[in-house]
Amino acid sequence: MDTSNWHELDTEQTLHALQAVPEGLSDEEAAMRLARYGDNTLPATPPESWFRRLARQFGNLLIGLLMVAGIATLIMRHWVDAGVIFGVVIIMVLIGALQEGRAEKALRGIQALLSRETNVVRAGRLQRLPARWLVPGDIVRLNAGDCAPADLRLLQGREVQVDESPLTGEALPVDKSASAVPLQTPLAERSDMIYSGTHLTRGHAVAVVVATGARTEIGRIARLAEGVSQVRTPLMIQMADLSLKLTLAILILAGLTFGAGWLRGAGFEAAFLAAVALAVAAIPEGLPAVITITLAIGVQRMARRSAIIRRLYAVETLGAVDVICSDKTGTLTYNQMMVRSVVLAADQLAVEGNGYVPRGRIESVRSPSSADADAGLARLVIAAVLCNDAELKPDPDWHILGSATEGALLTLALKAGHDIDRIRATYTRLDTRPFESSRRTMATLHRDREGVRWITLKGAPEAVLEHCTTQLHDGVAEPLAREYWTQQVIALAESGQRTLAVAQRLATTPEIDLVAGDFESEFVLLGLFGIEDPPRPDAIEAVARCRAAGIDIKMITGDHAATARAIGARFGLGEVGGVLTGRDIDAMDDRALRDSTRTVDIYARTTPEHKLRLVRALQDRGCVVAMTGDGVNDAPALRQAEVGIAMGQRGTDTAREAAHVVLTDDNFVSIAEAVEQGRTVYDNIRKSVLYMLPTGLAEAMVIVLAIVFGFTLPLTPLQVLWVNTITATTLGLALAFERPETDLMRRRPRGTRDGILNAMLAWRIVFVTLIILAGTFGQFLWALERGLALEQARTIAVNTLVMFELFYLLSSRFILLPVLGRNGMRGNRYVVFAALTTLVFQLLFTDTTPFQLLFDTRHITAMEWLGLSLTASSVLWLVELEKMILRRAARNRGRPDPAPTRPAGDDASSGVSS
Ligand code: ATP
Repeated sequence: MDTSNWHELDTEQTLHALQAVPEGLSDEEAAMRLARYGDNTLPATPPESWFRRLARQFGNLLIGLLMVAGIATLIMRHWVDAGVIFGVVIIMVLIGALQEGRAEKALRGIQALLSRETNVVRAGRLQRLPARWLVPGDIVRLNAGDCAPADLRLLQGREVQVDESPLTGEALPVDKSASAVPLQTPLAERSDMIYSGTHLTRGHAVAVVVATGARTEIGRIARLAEGVSQVRTPLMIQMADLSLKLTLAILILAGLTFGAGWLRGAGFEAAFLAAVALAVAAIPEGLPAVITITLAIGVQRMARRSAIIRRLYAVETLGAVDVICSDKTGTLTYNQMMVRSVVLAADQLAVEGNGYVPRGRIESVRSPSSADADAGLARLVIAAVLCNDAELKPDPDWHILGSATEGALLTLALKAGHDIDRIRATYTRLDTRPFESSRRTMATLHRDREGVRWITLKGAPEAVLEHCTTQLHDGVAEPLAREYWTQQVIALAESGQRTLAVAQRLATTPEIDLVAGDFESEFVLLGLFGIEDPPRPDAIEAVARCRAAGIDIKMITGDHAATARAIGARFGLGEVGGVLTGRDIDAMDDRALRDSTRTVDIYARTTPEHKLRLVRALQDRGCVVAMTGDGVNDAPALRQAEVGIAMGQRGTDTAREAAHVVLTDDNFVSIAEAVEQGRTVYDNIRKSVLYMLPTGLAEAMVIVLAIVFGFTLPLTPLQVLWVNTITATTLGLALAFERPETDLMRRRPRGTRDGILNAMLAWRIVFVTLIILAGTFGQFLWALERGLALEQARTIAVNTLVMFELFYLLSSRFILLPVLGRNGMRGNRYVVFAALTTLVFQLLFTDTTPFQLLFDTRHITAMEWLGLSLTASSVLWLVELEKMILRRAARNRGRPDPAPTRPAGDDASSGVSS
């Protein structure tokens, strides 16, 4: 079976060589082949080795600086200082490697959730199976938007076009057909082959698997399927930039301190050591690790709530979203379609039942129902079964394969007592023009047992009516009462039902090409369906939550404007600006469309091109846009949006691969939750910055001040290094695990132009630095005042500093909310754990001999502990007071929260309706 010449064989030779038949392999044969050929997966790239990851950490600028400092200290024979500096290096490198490893593992695990499924025919039955179970000889069916799950030889295809860019780099889709090509044809021109990883952009294909897994072309060139790719996010780059600037500033400060110390006669070595300690203390070494871990935690939390992140930067962008453009069907509603109403030329029928279960009465609203109505219904239902690609399955519960709208028609057929298989066997299908959302119709050509050929047309009523001249009444065609049908459509749509019309005609000309649209007019309209798809109650709640968070929700649907309005009203949408249809959008220029987005929330009868224009119009207003999509043509809009969200269940492979986020449950609620997590991630990174910068700065300033003003150093350089190691590693990380704040979804979206540090946060950093500095110096000087030995005074100073950091950690859990309330001390066990670990370390540091020898510390009394703890607690009270003042000021200005401010006059915020 291992040949690379499949393209040269005709379809029969191919099937013969593969020992395959069009009805598919039997389950036993497939299992045997799976055992022989293995899973249809590409060999994974081995994860980076521990050693390499560790080695890579040394490339980091901050670590490099520490190494230089360590080596210089070694040369000066300050063994202990050098030892501690290298200790810091080792801890930082270990933590960096550990956290990166964790993040990578999390992302890999999540990637595995994105496994593909594919339509396979086995033992004559169409099934949906994981693509990894495919074996050579399997018969697969692909539709537009599907990604080829293995290397395939086309058996039958209509209008098949394939985007081969993953394989050949060629951006334009190429046509495919089942005819064999000569042996020498290069890969890119083999028009009868569809290679693994390429996408069907149009048409419908039946093909046989010729190679799986590593034996596919893409496996051969060893390129892995695209997954979670980008690991450096804008925020990371912004932070790297901030770290670099800080490092430079600190180096200058260290140089100045060294100069000042030397001039004051502190001696070269002492001045140098102090400068080194200052640099080590103030450089935020822990920050990169904290950001990586915070993002990774965000990704994991989102995955637990059904949102799979494909591009890491989407995590933080999700938190900045101003507008969510959501599909209606399946996202805001259940996509559980059920026919509720049937409209015939002379009758209307109401249908009872639940979901796809084929039980429920069909009753004429003009009871008793006439024999004509029964005959009319039968004609309508038979046509609806024929122009239909869905399958209705009874096990385990009644469910459908394929389009939900079509599935609903099959359930109706069973309720009306028809046998679907018999209908389909009686009228052989000769040709199909698949449903496309841009045309909103589907057409099929059939031949009955007498050899008579019929064309069936089904679709959105406006589109179908265009082709009709007559209607079926009492079994005969009479002139079309257009007005009647239009009113019926509006009545159905106004009650929130999706509308669908079905028409039929005899095929008169011998050569008919449906795909070319060779059937333009003179159809007989058989009737209308009104299909119900209930809104998800939890989505109604989630929409309200998002709007409270200042996020604008736009509902985009292919349905009728009246249907959209009725469903939109259930979500509180469309009250101000009404509904715009695709046709309205076409009539608008970009500027008018942009302005309309300020008030209009519902867009009906849209196509994917309209989605793209809408995203651009919103972006033009400065909005950060999240857009959902599922179809093959949605890919451009998904890419254009800041956050493209694809549907994992209904979505095509093309949409999933264009998206930044994939929803495994297709539910709007998951989008709202992902936004909340995105906001949490950003908040937590802000908290870490807000925590690490002032604590590091305060440590550094203690040294600067002592040297500049000629005091004895309150902390020896070695002690500074100790404090820094403890805080940067143990304490700062705890904030990465913080849960969302209670008011998170009551704030307006943060502006993306807002850097990680705004004026308020910069002020907080200065404020806290000053408090810690004053308290530590105060405790030190007071101890000396009381006549304590220098070593004791220093021990008090170190412990004061660490206790400050502990108290400030508590306060940093919430940026503006009080931590002293009911929830302030709970909810993050990592904070408690980090605080207790630090306390134990401080006791060891103060009271055990090895530490006393190493760090020159001394025992201090309980009263001294109490005094320094009280002093250190001041940071908590003062920052809480400051938060209160800021909150009050914000309330007075009428804004819920001053933290995520936007630049004044920002357009996006004014457009957000509430
Ligand atoms: P939403 O945006 O609400 O998620 P959609 O954009 O996917 O929905 P489409 O599937 O494009 O909407 O449907 C638009 C219209 O096309 C429907 O109102 C219906 O009239 C018609 N339609 C939908 N599915 C089919 C189908 N399989 N065959 C024929 N017509 C269909």
